[in-house]
Amino acid sequence: MKAGGWWNLLTEEQKQKASVRQYIANRHRRGLRDREPCLICGDPNTVFHHLDYLPRTMNVIDVCVPHHHDFHALKKEGLTDEQIVAYLLNQSRERLRPAGGQPADSPDR
Ligand SMILES: [Zn+2]
Ligand SMILES: [Zn+2]
Repeated sequence: MKAGGWWNLLTEEQKQKASVRQYIANRHRRGLRDREPCLICGDPNTVFHHLDYLPRTMNVIDVCVPHHHDFHALKKEGLTDEQIVAYLLNQSRERLRPAGGQPADSPDR
């Protein structure tokens, strides 16, 4: 049981988030959930970003620390997780485009 004094200082929402984080961290430790490279740029050094905080959810995505930072910055702007992924993927594609090259006439999917 979590009876520590600090635990009681948390709001219900914070407690729920903490339990979900712990649940996923435990599964990771037991080898039930591997870390994957960053969804956006492929960096192997990633953290989990939670898409929801439902009990026992495994709804997390792997992003590197800078992209995780972007995620939360954009979230504050009111974007949904889906919009953020699309936005960041688009951005990293821009960066890969050779400077001064012709604007890629890319048929999107
Ligand atoms: Zn990244
Ligand atoms: Zn996050």
